[in-house]
Amino acid sequence: MKEFILKKSNSYNFYKSNYESLLEENARLNQKLEQYQKVYPPKKCPICGYEGIDFKPYVNIIHREVECPKCRSHERHRALWLFFNERKDILKKGNTFLHFAPEPQFNELFRSSGMEYHPADISSENSLVEELIDVQDIPYEDNYFDLIYCSNILEHVEDDKKGMSELYRVLKPGGRALILVPINGISYEMPVDKSKTFENPEYNTPELREKYYGQFDHVRLYGTDFKDKLTDAGFKILADDYIKNLGHELIDRYALIKDENIFECTK
Ligand SMILES: [Zn+2]
Repeated sequence: MKEFILKKSNSYNFYKSNYESLLEENARLNQKLEQYQKVYPPKKCPICGYEGIDFKPYVNIIHREVECPKCRSHERHRALWLFFNERKDILKKGNTFLHFAPEPQFNELFRSSGMEYHPADISSENSLVEELIDVQDIPYEDNYFDLIYCSNILEHVEDDKKGMSELYRVLKPGGRALILVPINGISYEMPVDKSKTFENPEYNTPELREKYYGQFDHVRLYGTDFKDKLTDAGFKILADDYIKNLGHELIDRYALIKDENIFECTK
């Protein structure tokens, strides 16, 4: 106790006698920080409001600033958050909406939209899932959904061609399907031809899949030909450059991947 009082009074005396110079030092550091932030503006998460020097890296992803330390969003979630908030026109009350692998970041936004919302996945591990649906065999009639949001699903699926044709089948003519997958050269950097999807049935263990496709449970690594696969399934691609068009300032601020594509498709 004695020691504590002594320490306390010592630090009090120290601050008292150095008050002016400490204030000066504080002002100098603030000025330095301001200068630094002009060159390296702080990163922000549009979803949870996190603001800081950076985001956290993530296994095998080329981009260094992936995960938000506060809400755990990745680059694509932050980009899609901006997209959905700007494009409220596609979250129309009463419309049918099929959402694969529902992410917690969007839960409130989608549920409060007044849409007929169908959060689905192949397993119920995710507590937000309400319907067990395999994208290769969607149990809905043709032309049922006004909106489909299917992000980072097709790279996990054995027959992705069937998956895309099912997504196309259940989409209403004039509806919107937002489809995303990791693409070689954009999300991962693997030493194979980036213009072609890379797939080898012999890579069937978690180790081999991680080594060749970037993640233990991926069954292929898409190349830039993914776009052709969507058009082969029948989709008309309305846009794929939403992120690029945000401009470098927003891309830096929210730590997005400039070349990542949100494929906005219709039928
Ligand atoms: Zn966040």
